[in-house]
Amino acid sequence: MRDETLCLHAGYTPKNSEPRVVPIVQSTTYVYDSTEEVASVFDEPTKSLIYSRFANPTVMAVEQKIAELEGGVGAMCTSSGQAATLLSILNICSAGDSFISTTEIYGGTFNLFAVTLKRMGIECIFIDKNWSDEEISKAFKPNTKAVFGETIANPALTVFDIERFARIAHAHNVPLIIDNTFATPVLCKPIDFGADIVIHSTSKYLDGHAVQVGGVIVDSGNFDWTNGKFPDFTEPDDSYHGITYVGTYGKAAYIIKARMQLMRDFGVYPAAHSAFLLNLGLETLAVRMQRYCENAITVAKFLEANENVASIRYPGLENDIDHELAKKYLKGTSGVISFVIKGGKETAMKFMNSLKLASNEVHVADIRTCVLHPASETHRQLTDEQLVAAGIDPGLIRFSVGLENIEDILDDIKQAFAAL
Ligand SMILES: *Cc1c(COP(=O)(O)O)cnc(C)c1O
Repeated sequence: MRDETLCLHAGYTPKNSEPRVVPIVQSTTYVYDSTEEVASVFDEPTKSLIYSRFANPTVMAVEQKIAELEGGVGAMCTSSGQAATLLSILNICSAGDSFISTTEIYGGTFNLFAVTLKRMGIECIFIDKNWSDEEISKAFKPNTKAVFGETIANPALTVFDIERFARIAHAHNVPLIIDNTFATPVLCKPIDFGADIVIHSTSKYLDGHAVQVGGVIVDSGNFDWTNGKFPDFTEPDDSYHGITYVGTYGKAAYIIKARMQLMRDFGVYPAAHSAFLLNLGLETLAVRMQRYCENAITVAKFLEANENVASIRYPGLENDIDHELAKKYLKGTSGVISFVIKGGKETAMKFMNSLKLASNEVHVADIRTCVLHPASETHRQLTDEQLVAAGIDPGLIRFSVGLENIEDILDDIKQAFAAL
């Protein structure tokens, strides 16, 4: 089935007289007739449901839908995008390991990698994605276990050369993890280009309506965990009476290990009600993404030609430095634009305060147009050098184009420029 159809039908197929819409199973637990049956579920936790800290039917329907949209063998939802990023790394790296990431990533991810994981003994080696293959290869150490990048970087809006980084990662026998939040599987399927693990903040386009915070990890099933670098996948897990993940679960080893070990121990699983809301958003994802792309290119062209704009990033613009990569990887360039306003930080804040329709909020990829000033808001913890490395100018405004009528969005921008 194609994306529009998967968005509506994947993950839940009601049988005779069952509810048409995926039901909200708001229950922490599941009953069994005998202790023997409970024991057998503990022996084989993927066989049946035990406890909603790590599996729930409503959430599982959404997991199945997202796995099918991304072309993976399985998915696991988390209670936030941050939790998805964290678990995607912890499922591979332990204290004493390292992994490689580009600097052009979401601010929260940058902090997780540079500060919190470091405290846990996991080193993130930051690289510039414009380095040559040789320079990037030099950054690998014997303990390097993964490579990380964002399809369309938030907020830098650079496009990641997924095939190139998959080739480099695989040459070093490690998986490539892609944060596909801004592209969504409707505009890009990273697994088709060699990515091994795909993650999302579902708080953004997948939900779209800004009603739930969530994340998801998708496993392509393609990575070979038996190459000697990943003993946790091939040696017996004592916390499950000696099963081996690759031996027992084959292609789904990564995602089942994430659930059985990490979700069991950390419990960052979404509530059934959140998954229900996420599913409502997913049902219209394909139609919404098309309109976001149409509205955003119109706004981008308007801004590009405007005298108040010093520079603009939108990979859909022909002059954008990543336009060729966008043509290769993306069916559309999504709804987020970043531009640097002339006059720096003060002017940026004045412009933002003058907008009437677009709302000033710490969110992006909403159904409603919203704006953010990274230097004074989300990225305020970064030093000036880190801001530059992340591609963020003090006058940079992130403009997330919504689904309002395009003329109303343009009118709002015009009146805010007039107010400067
Ligand atoms: C928002 C975001 C995250 C973090 O997700 P939360 O749901 O806010 O925890 C991670 N990556 C990207 C690209 C994001 O935009």
